[in-house]
Amino acid sequence: MIGGGPAGLMAAEVLLEGGARVHLYERMPSVARKLLMAGKGGLNITHAEALDRFPSRYTNRERLEPMLREMGPQALRSWVHGLGIDTFVGTSGRIFPHEMKAAPLLRAWLRRLRESGLIVHVRHDWRGWTDDGALRFATAEGEKTRAHGALVLALGGGSWPQLGSDGGWVETLESRGLKVSPLRPANCGFDVAWSEHFRTRHAGEPVKPVVAFFTDRAGVQHRRQGEFVVTDYGVEGSLIYALSAALRDEIACGGSATLKLDLAPGQNEAKLAGALGHPRGSRSISSHIQSRIGLKGVKTALLREALPATDFDDLARVAAGVKALPLRLCAPRPLSEAISTAGGIAWDALDEKLMLRNVPGVFCAGEMLDWEAPTGGYLLTACFALGRAAGRGALEWLAHEA
Ligand SMILES: Cc1cc2nc3c(=O)[nH]c(=O)nc-3n(C[C@H](O)[C@H](O)[C@H](O)COP(=O)(O)OP(=O)(O)OC[C@H]3O[C@@H](n4cnc5c(N)ncnc54)[C@H](O)[C@@H]3O)c2cc1C
Repeated sequence: MIGGGPAGLMAAEVLLEGGARVHLYERMPSVARKLLMAGKGGLNITHAEALDRFPSRYTNRERLEPMLREMGPQALRSWVHGLGIDTFVGTSGRIFPHEMKAAPLLRAWLRRLRESGLIVHVRHDWRGWTDDGALRFATAEGEKTRAHGALVLALGGGSWPQLGSDGGWVETLESRGLKVSPLRPANCGFDVAWSEHFRTRHAGEPVKPVVAFFTDRAGVQHRRQGEFVVTDYGVEGSLIYALSAALRDEIACGGSATLKLDLAPGQNEAKLAGALGHPRGSRSISSHIQSRIGLKGVKTALLREALPATDFDDLARVAAGVKALPLRLCAPRPLSEAISTAGGIAWDALDEKLMLRNVPGVFCAGEMLDWEAPTGGYLLTACFALGRAAGRGALEWLAHEA
């Protein structure tokens, strides 16, 4: 096993259960740093959505679905309970461990894996193969080589590289003739060219509730209600992440994407225009907007930022702006800042047991494969499910070779 994230540890568990002797190599001083980081904001381990809808959240669904059916939300939840960790279903169906954190779960899991015989080698940075097929590792004591039976690679994507996964494996595998779709940011923020005035006053402020919508070039309409945060460079947050795959692809095709914001969800444009049409007297335009339609703070500032100044002479145009304020997104934030990674090892390079077709005995799992999904527990669920499948594939291969 190389890579001690959730996918790798799950593959190791299956191999150990099947009686294999498992060595796990990890480049960092400890395993599963991204899982621990995920626990900082509340570890959303899976989602209570029904199994017939659940797989529709993923790209390359047809390849993932059999594995998700086997290790879907319910099975994963039972697995967590088996570690002595309670779970609960939070708002909008998201499932969390009782304490919200990853550390107790990881501690219990590692204890169980070690008791089953897992041997972990940290600070072993995999660098590919020697000419005679041994694994090459860079370590503090210099290069080491290791022979292997079956091998599972679970090296993660390219986001948050400081936690261990930096996508460095792409070059290694491409040099073996493997097809890898370019790694791209998923569940990411976007750059917006804010004015200095707006940025200095409003960076860090949440915008809520708000509906964000846009139509992509294929004519598909995307629409979500939620909240986002204004940042120094643009926008971040759950509402933006939910639309980020389509926005990222739109920017890749057209150079930018225009996201529209409804700053007054549930209110009707004609009524807003009527309310704003009342005489304003000596009030400033901002206090008129606040007193007539209740819009204030960062929402009014967004109106000021995104609408031409001349629109404020015609309050019907302001009402239209409140319901569909155009926000031009210039670029997705870099992969290193994204929550997850799109792209990865192409599915046609893998057989149905997740073995590389041109490198027999080598299996792959987790975020390094070419799929993406929104936040909400979908990412971890797929990593666990893929880890399980790769572990079983490796076990069958070992049995066959023996
Ligand atoms: C801030 C944040 C919050 C998140 N929150 C959630 C959440 O709440 N719910 C959810 O579903 N998902 C969440 N995710 C995503 C989730 O953590 C990842 O999808 C998941 O960890 C990927 O698992 P993995 O095993 O494929 O890869 P990783 O967890 O990235 O593990 C891969 C491991 O391989 C090691 N490695 C890489 N290259 C080498 C090498 N050459 N040699 C040796 N070792 C190597 C790495 O050091 C790493 O330990 C979050 C992500 C982030 C960044």
